Amino acid sequence: MYILGLDIGGTKTEAALSKTCPGDGKKTTARRGTPPLTLTLPDVASTKLSIFARKRIPTTRRAGFATIVTQLTELCSELLAHEKIGAKDLSAIGIGLPGSVDPVSGKMLFGNTIALAGKDLARELASGLKLARSARTACKIVCENDANCFALAEALCGAGAEFAEKSKKPIAETMGVGVILGTGVGGGIVIGGRILRGRQGGAGEIGHTELYTNGHACYCGRNGCAEGYLSGAGFEAHFASRIYSQIEKRPDAKGIFDLCRDGDPIASAVVQQYRRELAKFLGHLTNILDPDYFVLGGGMSNAPQIYEGLRARIQRHCFLPDTAPAVYRHALGDSSGVIGAALLAFQKVAAN
Ligand SMILES: [Zn+2]
Repeated sequence: MYILGLDIGGTKTEAALSKTCPGDGKKTTARRGTPPLTLTLPDVASTKLSIFARKRIPTTRRAGFATIVTQLTELCSELLAHEKIGAKDLSAIGIGLPGSVDPVSGKMLFGNTIALAGKDLARELASGLKLARSARTACKIVCENDANCFALAEALCGAGAEFAEKSKKPIAETMGVGVILGTGVGGGIVIGGRILRGRQGGAGEIGHTELYTNGHACYCGRNGCAEGYLSGAGFEAHFASRIYSQIEKRPDAKGIFDLCRDGDPIASAVVQQYRRELAKFLGHLTNILDPDYFVLGGGMSNAPQIYEGLRARIQRHCFLPDTAPAVYRHALGDSSGVIGAALLAFQKVAAN
C-alpha cells in the first residue's frame, strides 16, 4: 500500500512517498536529528510505514490557487514517475495546510495563505492526478492543519515517543500539545495518538488566545494575541521597540539570542520577558488541558535560552501543584509536517 504525504508550508512544499510493510512488533525508537524513515503507529502495531522518497519545492503562496494546484500536481507526478509508481496505486494522500481545516469538507477555513481558503484542494489534486474518487477502491485524500500534522508526527514518532519511553506510559494513553513558535504561533493537541479537531476544526488555534488585555493589534482583528508576543516576528518587534534608532541594522531573532548570550542588557531583558510570556502561555494551556508534555517547533524553538528554567516558570501559572508538563524541543526537524500528513492518511486507511 502506497501513501503520499504533502505539506504546503509558507516557504516550502514537500512531498514524501511511503509504503506499508509488515511490523516486527517493536516500537519506533525516538531519534533526534534525523527523522525516522520507518514509523510504527501505536494502534496499528502490526504495520509499519516506510518513507522511501521525498521532494521539496518552494511555495509560491501569492501566485493564486490555480498555480498552487498546478505546482502540487507536478510535484506529485514527478515524485511518482521517478519511483515508477502510478497515481492509481496510491491508497491515500495526506495534505498539511497552513490554516484551520473544516473536518467535514476538508477545505481550509482561514489561514495566512489566503489563496487556499475555502478551496477544495483535495478535489483539484485528484482531478490533476486523474484519480477516480467515487470507486470503492478510490484513493482517500485527507487535508489537515499543518500544526496538527506537526503535533501528530511528534506524538507518534518524535518527542511523544521519547516521553512514552521515559515515562513507560503508552502513547495510546498520553496527551501531547504541539506548539509552533515560528512566523506565527500555532498548535495541535494529540490525545491517544489521534488529533483533537474540535467541532469545526478549530481546536489547537492557541496563537490567537489573549495574552494581554488591550495588547498589540493582531491581523485576526483582536488585540493581545499570544502570536504577537511569542512568534519570531513578535520577538523581533519587541527588541526593535527597545532600541529605537540606536543601531542601524535590526537583528533577527537569532541575532537577538546571540546578543543575549554575549551579555547585551537590552537583548537579555527581551529574552527574559519572552521566557515569562511563554511560561504564562503554557501555564494557561496546562490549566485547561493538563497534558503529559509540550513539544515546541518553529524557528524560536531552536534557541536553547527559552528552555532555561521553563518548567519551573510554567508551574507558577498552574493551579495544581507539581503539574507543569515536560517540555521538549521538536525531534523531527522541519519534516514533521509531511511525516504527520502521511501518518494521518495512513490512520485514515487503517481505520477502514
Ligand atoms: Zn490574533
